[in-house]
Amino acid sequence: MKELKHLNKYFKKYWLKLLIGIIITIIARVFQLVMPSYVNKSIAVVENFLGNRISEASAKDMLLEYILIIVGAALLSGFFTFLMRQTIINVSRYIEYDLKNEVFDHYQLLNLSFYKKNRTGDLMNRISEDVNQVRMYAGPAIMYGIQTLTLFVCLIPLMFIKAPTIAFYALLPLPVLSVLIYQISRIIHRRSTKVQEYLSALSTFTQESFSGVSVIKAYGLEPKINTELRELALEGKNKSMDLAKVNAWFFPLMILLIGVSNIFVIYVGGKQYIDGEIASVGVIAEFILYVNMLTWPVAIVGWLTSIVQRAEASQKRINEFLKEEPEIKNEVPETSPIQGEIEFKKVTFTYEDTNITALKELSFKVHTGETVAIIGKTGSGKSTILDLVARLYDVSAGDVLIDGISVKDLNLQSLRAAIGAVPQDAFLFSDSIRNNIKFGKADATDEEIHAMAKQAVVHDNIMGFSKDYDTVLGERGITLSGGQKQRVSIARALIKEPQIYLFDDCLSAVDTETEEEILNHLKKASENKTTLIVSHRVSSAKNADRILVLEDGQLAQEGTHDDLIAAEGYYKELYINQLSEKEN
Ligand code: ADP
Ligand code: MG
Repeated sequence: MKELKHLNKYFKKYWLKLLIGIIITIIARVFQLVMPSYVNKSIAVVENFLGNRISEASAKDMLLEYILIIVGAALLSGFFTFLMRQTIINVSRYIEYDLKNEVFDHYQLLNLSFYKKNRTGDLMNRISEDVNQVRMYAGPAIMYGIQTLTLFVCLIPLMFIKAPTIAFYALLPLPVLSVLIYQISRIIHRRSTKVQEYLSALSTFTQESFSGVSVIKAYGLEPKINTELRELALEGKNKSMDLAKVNAWFFPLMILLIGVSNIFVIYVGGKQYIDGEIASVGVIAEFILYVNMLTWPVAIVGWLTSIVQRAEASQKRINEFLKEEPEIKNEVPETSPIQGEIEFKKVTFTYEDTNITALKELSFKVHTGETVAIIGKTGSGKSTILDLVARLYDVSAGDVLIDGISVKDLNLQSLRAAIGAVPQDAFLFSDSIRNNIKFGKADATDEEIHAMAKQAVVHDNIMGFSKDYDTVLGERGITLSGGQKQRVSIARALIKEPQIYLFDDCLSAVDTETEEEILNHLKKASENKTTLIVSHRVSSAKNADRILVLEDGQLAQEGTHDDLIAAEGYYKELYINQLSEKEN
């Protein structure tokens, strides 16, 4: 139970609701216990009437009274059972909500490297399936637990007081039932975990096939995917059948043991009645009702045990994850506004997962307001530089300074608020174009949005869509071309009006004329802003104040466009290549 201690803070938060819930549960149970003894009394009345011990009129009066009591108690019990669910199950929903928020908040704190290490499906499971298992403990398990406990505490002594021998025999099969249900629940759990795992594998597989559908079709992989899916489905079927087989034992076993209890009650009770040891046949009826009242709670004891075990396992996974510390900590209070000077001092950076050293003792400085282009082959470390400026990763050695202060000594929010980044993959959310651009500035007006889209030369494209800025992107909507995506994400960065612009190869899918136009706009927008433009095209770089040529994580060349084409090196080669490409 030690993992589930994590939930205590939530139980504390909702203690009053829980307490009320517990009291209501007990009340509901007590009303339920009224019925069997009045059934007994009613039968005794009939017996007495048949034995001519009471008159018809008084028998009828008494029966009417008892029936009213039974109906009244049943109604009250039902009402309180309803309230019980309303309180305790609601508490478990509150706890579920809180726990999900806790998990999600923690997700947001963690760094990119965490997301590289964990699969998306796994992360999703933690916040949905695992939290749900825990909720089963916080709600239903507690509710049924209390219900069962009150029933045992009230009913078992009552039965022994009323007729000890019958009580003994009636209860005899029940522990067996409890143990068996527990065993079955464990097997059910084991097998259903397998089914769960398989379902998660299946959804990962299908999800991947859907998102990669164009590749699958282009390579004619449909038959292969179909075979794989069929194998996976067959495995799933077998696992589900295994589960169904144990599940099938559950109710028959319960009914069998209840049957045994009932037979005991009738046999032992009947004998006692004949021997005159009990006053009325009503007692037998009463005990049969008791046995039936006990069945479900007894079975539930086994079921509860397995729920608690499951919740424990899930909470363990959640705890492990909550213990995961963000590598990049934000411990510095709000800092003064950032001007935008960037300096790399002997920066070395190694990606933990691949052990690739992307930057090697790299040093350079970019002054406030300067526009610097970074040119280099793929894999030379260009994107890594931008990630380090935004402190998406921490350097392995050396230091990144903004305005002369190490990024580690800057408030993380202030730093990132000062940066407008256009990532290489130009990620956009499945939302309207308007909202995607607004992402850079929550309170942006439509005029601003349009102005920025014009600067990014995408406004006319957007107006060409039937729903213009309300066009929804992604899964449920339109798919933009690579160049359109890049331009929308440029608009998103521009609207933020940050001190530092980071453009990661964000014009690669745009034709050269449009590129020219955008670059001219960018020049104006970024006049006093520090700008880093990563590119593999000379056209994007040539107007920069300075160009850095990166090779293998190190600075190979540095200078203006004119400097660099005057010297031998990668930049000149690139320039000549692209010149001749243009002519062709
Ligand atoms: P560029 O942007 O110049 O193409 P990157 O900065 O993306 O280069 O990558 C530099 C090197 O680091 C490459 O060898 C690449 O394989 C590696 N790398 C980039 N991103 C990651 C990552 N998230 N995890 C591990 N290795 C990475
Ligand atoms: Mg890159």
